[in-house]
Amino acid sequence: MDSLAAPQDRLVEPLLSPRTQAQRRLKDVDKQYVGFATLPNQVHRKSVKKGFDFTLMVAGESGLGKSTLVHSLFLTDLYKERKLLSAEERISQTVEILKHTVDIEEKGVKLKLTIVDTPGFGDAVNNSECWKPVTDYVDQQFEQYFRDESGLNRKNIQDNRVHCCLYFISPFGHGLRPVDVGFMKALHEKVNIVPLIAKADCLVPAEIRKLKERIREEIDKFGIHVYQFPECDSDEDEDFKQQDRELKESAPFAVIGSNTVVEAKGQRVRGRLYPWGIVEVENQAHCDFVKLRNMLIRTHMHDLKDVTCDVHYENYRAQCIQQMTSKLTQDSRMESPIPILPLPTPDAETEKLIRMKDEELRRMQEMLQKMKLQMQDQ
Ligand code: GDP
Repeated sequence: MDSLAAPQDRLVEPLLSPRTQAQRRLKDVDKQYVGFATLPNQVHRKSVKKGFDFTLMVAGESGLGKSTLVHSLFLTDLYKERKLLSAEERISQTVEILKHTVDIEEKGVKLKLTIVDTPGFGDAVNNSECWKPVTDYVDQQFEQYFRDESGLNRKNIQDNRVHCCLYFISPFGHGLRPVDVGFMKALHEKVNIVPLIAKADCLVPAEIRKLKERIREEIDKFGIHVYQFPECDSDEDEDFKQQDRELKESAPFAVIGSNTVVEAKGQRVRGRLYPWGIVEVENQAHCDFVKLRNMLIRTHMHDLKDVTCDVHYENYRAQCIQQMTSKLTQDSRMESPIPILPLPTPDAETEKLIRMKDEELRRMQEMLQKMKLQMQDQ
């Protein structure tokens, strides 16, 4: 079996363009570190001091290797205290949402990583609507952000919005199951979904190709919008374009996870030891783990956050404002004996102005209230 190249531990080269640095890192086969030290290349330096935060959701039937993959990706065991349920307990269990947060630091770059897990998902006898607690959770985070944004302390908002959801698909089926379609359709307008074929070592390469093709067809057929990798700039060099093409062609990524380091051809690698050989997690001939890790951590983390903010959150905000406006129209109709014409939908600029004025008004009211209380106390 192929073995990996010797680990390299290059430092960030400040004279190279961010893209070139990201490109170089893509070529690194580095087993010693996770790779988010390249995050400063994806965003402005000012954020480096503050640190980065990223919220990743993992979903899929239990036993598909979610916790093992998270461990392999971030080299951190977030599931030390996990209690595995018996079959009996699982029958009565409802879908839970669990959050694990860990601060990791690499070459002076801090990352506050939050993993949102969904134990119990897909485990019941009847799985209809089992994604409801998950959609509710994602909405609650948007709602909290929306409230904080309109509050007084807007500069220090804690961003708990889910930036990406790794959705694990079983390698044992013949494509998507109804629960997979249901989950992805319920969440695709709210979160960046990255579908994964779990436990890829259970399939031979031809089977993986076939399953990938099938899943791609079904994603299309059911109108599911999974996360789309951004288009590569036309002035990028050929090497980068090639890597970008390969990344896109590999989706849905077929991944393997392992919590153990084994010896293969004299080198210590993260892998799974079978009586017939070793499956290496970070060997690109064995699975797409490295592609997923590079995409998630080294090259597209910032884009995932941007899409969350500019597309998914904006959709949520627009819906909220629309609901609020129509409620206001309804209320004023009820209060006024004279029929009121429906309000024209404000354009973006007007809407922004209205919101700013509303916020100003609310802040002034709050200040007045505070002053009143202070005067009462004296
Ligand atoms: P979770 O319930 O989805 O979090 O699954 P776990 O990570 O706890 O994994 C369940 C079982 O599958 C464990 O025995 C793991 O060792 C095993 N496992 C995890 N990842 C893989 C993989 O990629 N391939 C294979 N064959 N087994 C795996």
